[in-house]
Amino acid sequence: MIDPYTWEIPKDTREDMKVPVRIYASEALLEKMRGDRTLLQAVNVSTMMGIQKWAVVLPDAHEGYGFPVGGVAAVDAEEGAVSPGGVGYDINCGVRLLRTNLSVEDVKPRLRELLDQIYRLVPSGVGSEGIIRVSTHELDDVARLGMRWAVEHGYGWERDLEHAEEGGRIPWADPGKVSDIAKKRGAEQLGTLGSGNHFLELEVVDRVEDERAARAMGIRGPGQVMVLIHTGSRGYGHQVCSDYLRIMERVMAREGIRLPDRELAYGPISAKEVQDYLGAMASAANFAWANRQMITHWVREAFEKVYGRDSESLGLELVYDVAHNIVKLEEHEVEGVHRKVYVHRKGATRSFPPGSEQVPPDYRDVGQPVLIPGSMGTGSWVMVGLRTSMDRSFGSAAHGAGRFMSRAAAKRKHRYGDLVEELESGGILIRASSKETVVEEAPDAYKDVDAVADATHFAGLAKKAVRLRPLGVVKG
Ligand code: 5GP
Ligand code: MN
Ligand code: MN
Repeated sequence: MIDPYTWEIPKDTREDMKVPVRIYASEALLEKMRGDRTLLQAVNVSTMMGIQKWAVVLPDAHEGYGFPVGGVAAVDAEEGAVSPGGVGYDINCGVRLLRTNLSVEDVKPRLRELLDQIYRLVPSGVGSEGIIRVSTHELDDVARLGMRWAVEHGYGWERDLEHAEEGGRIPWADPGKVSDIAKKRGAEQLGTLGSGNHFLELEVVDRVEDERAARAMGIRGPGQVMVLIHTGSRGYGHQVCSDYLRIMERVMAREGIRLPDRELAYGPISAKEVQDYLGAMASAANFAWANRQMITHWVREAFEKVYGRDSESLGLELVYDVAHNIVKLEEHEVEGVHRKVYVHRKGATRSFPPGSEQVPPDYRDVGQPVLIPGSMGTGSWVMVGLRTSMDRSFGSAAHGAGRFMSRAAAKRKHRYGDLVEELESGGILIRASSKETVVEEAPDAYKDVDAVADATHFAGLAKKAVRLRPLGVVKG
């Protein structure tokens, strides 16, 4: 223990470690991580080629494919390695927050109608297909332009672009490195929410903890209605990840790289296949930004239908959009030296501080908005980036409450009817295409989001700004 929210697994714990493992968590959250392979996976990550400073484990971390979900690994931009498992299957899975100028009193009486409209306009469910079909050629434009493609095609407003990480587009996307199968899946699923952990939620501001940050985000105070959207790159990104995991295994055999766990599969940045992965990964990231933007447009339409007013007058502005499964080229200070590094954030949200050039002007005084969903029954947090996160976690913070109970265990424990009734008695309406999903996503399948927000705050990764609580949930 370094302090009550900072822990370390020293570098000499295992012979093959190149750097220590840094864990940011309360003792209770750390105890939960000990219940699965999170820490073992983090030790494995610390052996990566070119890894800098420390392998980071965030307060919401749990076991994932090769790498923990809720982890950060920064590698030297020339001598390091990139791993598809360090990004995850759902490339640029992320969250966006919209605000409204409606209050809970305006929304309560129309809640069912509003959820029905959203459910009707936003395709959701396992393998759900979109209402629009794009050609492969057009899909390559989506991959190159990301959120801009959506805005140019009438999905939303020019100013939305200013409130997204990277402006909703990574410029080095190369759709030529994306397989035909990925493109086929992508063409069918552009503009869909998906299923499982993905959701679209109507929220009400529960509590404001940082007035200045809230004001910068257009959040007036308790009672204001907000919208939270969580989805990613659907089958397109999933296929990119699977394709390149296979390719990396070949690269490793060729380069004679040995790993403590084959799920860690990576390749040196100098390898052509890794450059290809980066081009494909960026394409999928851009797909995800276009996807969330299209969904935003339909949410605006749903509000317009229900309230008979245009969405601008309803104040349906994009507050911010964050990616939480991604690898990015950034500059960070390591041991007093500025270095270019590829930062893998898997189940991790960027958390850049006030003053950072990467933070849009509207938020530059308060820090980048960090969105931390909790569960459909408890709440979610809006935090803002802090200066200390740069040194501690390569400018990263938690991305959720973090799964605690397996999907199978949640299914054994809960019955659909009881769960919906319980949520409704707490004033939360739910619309879902699969009963199974709802049960798997039961609130107690996740850790305590308030505990995660506290640990994130006290570890200096991000600052608590606004707590939200759910009013209505659309699940796939
Ligand atoms: P992931 O991207 O790791 O699947 O999910 C991110 C986080 O979303 C999870 O750690 C969990 O805390 C949160 N989450 C999952 N389902 C819901 C939901 O229905 N509503 C809200 N607000 N959060 C959820
Ligand atoms: Mn996802
Ligand atoms: Mn996600």
